[in-house]
Amino acid sequence: EIALSRAVERVQPSATIAVTTKANEMKRQGIDVIGLGAGEPDFDTPEHVKEAAIKAINDGKTKYTPADGIPELKEAICAKFKRDNGLEYTPAQINVSPGGKAVLYNAFMATLNPGDEVIVPAPYWVSYPEMARLAGGDPVFVQCGPNSNYKLSPEALEQAITPKTKWLVLNSPSNPTGAAYTKDELRALADVLLKHPQVWVMTDDMYEHLVYDGFEYFTIAQVEPKLYDRTLTVNGVSKAYAMTGWRIGYAGGPEKLIATMRKIMSQSTSNPCSISQWASVAALNGDHSFLAERNKVFKSRRDMVVDALNACEGLSCATPEGAFYVYPSCSGVIGKSSPKGALISSDKDFATALLEEEQVAVVFGEAFGLSPAFRISYATSTEALEEAMKRIKRFCEALK
Ligand code: PLP
Repeated sequence: EIALSRAVERVQPSATIAVTTKANEMKRQGIDVIGLGAGEPDFDTPEHVKEAAIKAINDGKTKYTPADGIPELKEAICAKFKRDNGLEYTPAQINVSPGGKAVLYNAFMATLNPGDEVIVPAPYWVSYPEMARLAGGDPVFVQCGPNSNYKLSPEALEQAITPKTKWLVLNSPSNPTGAAYTKDELRALADVLLKHPQVWVMTDDMYEHLVYDGFEYFTIAQVEPKLYDRTLTVNGVSKAYAMTGWRIGYAGGPEKLIATMRKIMSQSTSNPCSISQWASVAALNGDHSFLAERNKVFKSRRDMVVDALNACEGLSCATPEGAFYVYPSCSGVIGKSSPKGALISSDKDFATALLEEEQVAVVFGEAFGLSPAFRISYATSTEALEEAMKRIKRFCEALK
């Protein structure tokens, strides 16, 4: 048997992908499963974006491109950062990678040495700690539960920083909670960071455009320009433009970091798909009116789901500012037993029994580092969500 790399042995496979795979398998067997595990919009990629991709194919834009993106896309990204975030980046400060995930991974690979610490507020998107480990670093978790509205407080940040801290990962709105930081909250975190010049900020703004109730979005380099030189502002087209399969993510940051990420790409993946890059130019430069329409749908689903969950015995759910997730606590069901006799002693037990007994797939909170809770993605049809809520309610009521 082949001996595996020590770096890989420190890493877990993605729990969200595992849940989605299991739900899809059950569906293929003809079981009526409702999958609330996947983190992708159920909407289609906008028409003008698809047309730009078709045009790119017909125009022969089907060859290698510069490893970290075509100039046209970098220009469109610079314009986006200026327009939406008031941030000035030049094309030399822009990285385009095959997905936001790859941007984050390339950034960790470019910067982490053994022993370097990465502060990851929990609950976190499942990939941050594993990617930090793959790159040789050590994730340092900070529990950010319901008492701090699932957000990192300045006090908790101060406590987590050590001389070895290399990065703070911020993700607003958050996967898995949907919580988003206000300008004042970012200001307070920035004040702590200003005292610790060794700490860089990786801000994952993937869900920037998915905010509700008039929430005003800010990213940290905009709130504190003194952090600009040590911030990587990460974003992508996957979530806002319903382009998860196209695999385009991007970031703006200091030139030296961007150049190092480019070096990694030049010797690993090479460029992201040329056709997807042209489609992303059309997405970023094009009409954005579809966003408001889609957000209206997301918001009404969020409200429906939050109300339904709070009506379930043993569950309690906050109303998040953005993204398309909710992260209800299930502390009230721990210790109970299901109709089929499964003892619910953890959120993992809860999610397993819910899938087996009511055929609803959710992701258990342990995967995101904060228990007992679970994540629901409401990026699925309103009809399926309503049925799922009925099943969850029935399941919770049947627990003894
Ligand atoms: N960051 C967060 C917080 C996410 O939820 C996701 C996708 O689930 C990503 C990054 C990765 O996005 P992409 O599909 O562009 O790699």
